[in-house]
Amino acid sequence: MKKQFAVIGLGRFGGSICKSLVSEGMDVLAIDQDEDKVNEFAPIVTEAVIADSTDEKALRSLGVRNFDHVIVAIGDNILASILTTLILEEMNVKHITVKAQNDYHEKVLSRLGADEIVHPERDIGIRIAHNVVSKNVLDYLELSEEYSIVELAAGHTINGETIVDLDLRARYGCNILAIKRGEDIHVSPRPTEIIKDGDVLIVIGADDDINRLENHWI
Ligand code: ATP
Ligand code: ATP
Ligand code: CA
Repeated sequence: MKKQFAVIGLGRFGGSICKSLVSEGMDVLAIDQDEDKVNEFAPIVTEAVIADSTDEKALRSLGVRNFDHVIVAIGDNILASILTTLILEEMNVKHITVKAQNDYHEKVLSRLGADEIVHPERDIGIRIAHNVVSKNVLDYLELSEEYSIVELAAGHTINGETIVDLDLRARYGCNILAIKRGEDIHVSPRPTEIIKDGDVLIVIGADDDINRLENHWI
């Protein structure tokens, strides 16, 4: 069964969600109060409509309550985002994801009962900061307050060493989950695996340990 999604707000964030969902073969209803945005997305999504999502009647007449998942991607207008979320909650929409602009916005959304709150600007900021601090950090995924997964470029300084030589688990409390080598990915590498310049190590560990690794190794 195809899942039905509604995306409210067609800025850069909501717009890219629409495009990705469509490319995954999903049904997407795109809503924006701006006619130009709606015209831009009409050829891409299943249906695109002009509506103010803070107007409960408008949302009801679009049948939004029957959608599997509604994504509120209204950016700067925090009040509109909050009102929209409240209306969707009162309509008992199954799953609501909302983009938060700041921590206070996030708190209000979570009290309203949003199922999922995303913070793209903050998250990208954290990832870029890690990348700027250490050139070897290619990507960064926060798993919890304490733990993360990072992609580290293995530089030439460790070319030819084995995982045992590096002894990451003992020295840094970090584990190598996989090694990316060109198009290949070696999951659960053996301790005798030899690391080559150009490899990308996918490492899991506590943030403090990963930070030590970023700063002292390679
Ligand atoms: P992004 O950072 O994702 O580009 P943005 O910061 O540009 O987003 P906004 O422009 O504030 O975010 O909002 C995104 C979209 O949401 C806009 O196209 C805007 O017209 C739409 N929008 C805002 N309020 C409403 C509303 N009440 N009903 C429907 N659409 C709305
Ligand atoms: P452990 O008891 O930690 O599993 P071990 O004494 O059985 O280690 P090996 O599994 O051969 O020995 O590994 C030797 C060392 O190599 C480990 O102590 C660890 O520091 C490091 N090591 C092995 N595999 C990994 C990995 N996937 N990620 C990080 N370090 C590893
Ligand atoms: Ca924005």
